[in-house]
Amino acid sequence: MNALDSLIEALKRLPGVGQKSAQRMAYHLLQHDRPAVHRLADALTAAVERIHHCERCHTFSETSLCSVCADATRDARLLCVVETPADQAALERTGSYRGYYFVLLGRLSPLDGVSTRQIGAAELLQRAAESGVEEVILATSFTAEGEATAHVLAEALRARGVRSTRLARGVPVGSELEFVDLGTIAHALSDRR
Ligand SMILES: [Zn+2]
Repeated sequence: MNALDSLIEALKRLPGVGQKSAQRMAYHLLQHDRPAVHRLADALTAAVERIHHCERCHTFSETSLCSVCADATRDARLLCVVETPADQAALERTGSYRGYYFVLLGRLSPLDGVSTRQIGAAELLQRAAESGVEEVILATSFTAEGEATAHVLAEALRARGVRSTRLARGVPVGSELEFVDLGTIAHALSDRR
């Protein structure tokens, strides 16, 4: 494959980018903005080398503990479960949550072979059983798979005597948290049941 085709193929791996957009981006960069190509390449390399997962909550972090987990002033009674680092970032941006997080890095999807093991359910149960945790807030998406994930986790938590709540409705059905506006997320959080 020549260099142009491999660039187009690489761009097509981005979410929402098809053949046409990938071509447009590749031609644009090469024709009009060559310095940006170097910046992009450097930023991608730096990101993939430096950013790993927080060993406690699994979100993206450049240090072994992310800034939230390292912050001892947060409310240790609350543990919020989200699907992705992007969802966690969305909740943080609302400014209305002061507890800690656990990032599943996915959601249950039997058809795609995603099981409780892949989303770190055992680690979550262990984390939730730590002293001080009083409530686990299930903030998985309002898609069918996100709902199923919340249901399974709620049952497992209940079996271990841990109280869990779910974000309130108001977040549109079928939506990924990261694309919901901040006011709606803040409401769903404060109205959780
Ligand atoms: Zn963390």
